[in-house]
Amino acid sequence: MASYRRDQAVRAAVEQGLLSPSDPSRQIVALLDTAGIRASAAALVSAFAAVTDAPVLHAFAVKATPLVPVLRLLYDCGLGVEVASPGELALARAAGVPPSRTVLDSPAKTPAELRQALALGIAVNADNLQELARIDALIASAPTASPIGLRVNPQIGAGTIGALSTATATSKFGVGLRDEGAREAVVQAYLDRPWMRRLHTHTGSQGIPLALMAEGVATAHALAEEINAKAGRQQVDTIDIGGGLPVNFVTDEETPTYAEYAELLAATAPGLFDGRYGIVTEFGRSLLAKHGTILARVEYTKTSGARPIAVTHAGVQVATRTVYAPDSWPLRVLAYDADGRPRTGPEIPQDVVQDVAGPACFAGDMLATARPLPLLRPDDIVAVPDTGAYYFAHHYAYNSLPRPGVHGFTVADDGAVSFVTVRRPQSLDEIVAESGGERPDALLG
Ligand SMILES: *Cc1c(COP(=O)(O)O)cnc(C)c1O
Repeated sequence: MASYRRDQAVRAAVEQGLLSPSDPSRQIVALLDTAGIRASAAALVSAFAAVTDAPVLHAFAVKATPLVPVLRLLYDCGLGVEVASPGELALARAAGVPPSRTVLDSPAKTPAELRQALALGIAVNADNLQELARIDALIASAPTASPIGLRVNPQIGAGTIGALSTATATSKFGVGLRDEGAREAVVQAYLDRPWMRRLHTHTGSQGIPLALMAEGVATAHALAEEINAKAGRQQVDTIDIGGGLPVNFVTDEETPTYAEYAELLAATAPGLFDGRYGIVTEFGRSLLAKHGTILARVEYTKTSGARPIAVTHAGVQVATRTVYAPDSWPLRVLAYDADGRPRTGPEIPQDVVQDVAGPACFAGDMLATARPLPLLRPDDIVAVPDTGAYYFAHHYAYNSLPRPGVHGFTVADDGAVSFVTVRRPQSLDEIVAESGGERPDALLG
């Protein structure tokens, strides 16, 4: 069970020195539950295998957890990758993911990026008609094996988090299908380019109701049917349905499930899974979020305006979204003692309303406010679960706080925990070097 494995890992992380009061790079550490990641990947594969016999490429959205060993693990589980920048493509290649299992999206691809992707044979989803015109020119000068698609925006509305809602009327992504003349222009773009075989949509991420996501996919499927009818053949042979399955940040339960979503898609878009269309998915957060945990030392505890505050070492540098948009991104905080044991027991007041602060020098750097927790004490450890995607792998360099080490762990049947290093903690020397440290005189003239 995930919570059992986490408790074992916290204890072992303390025992094995992954946290250390005397090392500035080890005030916090990030853990990845390898078995949990494998289980999520397997659940994704089997959920779609249960609804279609067509080929399915599950392309993990690299932006969710841009760590090379994670990409390699997912590739080992039968997944591919979705990349959206030259950096993400470089990570995928370093992980050994072949072009045939790589999909390039991004609203801002340069001609050089497109040329590289087409030369490698990576699938490309154009964001707009201007980009298609660039692809026309590149293909005319060098034929490509890349499957090419176009991203469309079904414009079906927003979820609860505006910043992550990609299918609004004015979203910056894709061709808005409900704009005047747009649908006709998209159909014509396909008819003019018989080599365009894919159609792409991604309706959004956390905060989008499942029914709305499914409606977006159904809209893309209906468009593919329209294009194919007008072309008089199965021109669009693959539909890329994007990612965006939301994550439960409230309990350890993994809900909603891939199986629920796959069944909803089958019901909402009859024909999508009848075998005529290959499927590409681009899930990110839902594959990794629940398998990552940040551990942070509590440095001090005090009260301010009568409210207890625990000052920890985890804040805006690893939980940027939560700190800047706490209402949209609440995180759980779990209390452990200095030895890494869950903070229970009669000697400790439970359910004390506390603030859990980060180390950064601005007032808003809070992991949680007014949260009932066992009363925290100096040298305790707080664990922040559900942070495997878009948290510790997305470091924000405020106050020159170091990037934490990331360690994968496995738990043997007898409870013994083994760690492997996924990413070393950043050293102070590295921070200096990345901050112009090699040229202190640069501005002296
Ligand atoms: C961000 C993104 C994804 C992944 O979204 P998740 O919410 O992490 O599943 C997939 N496709 C595209 C195009 C994206 O921009």
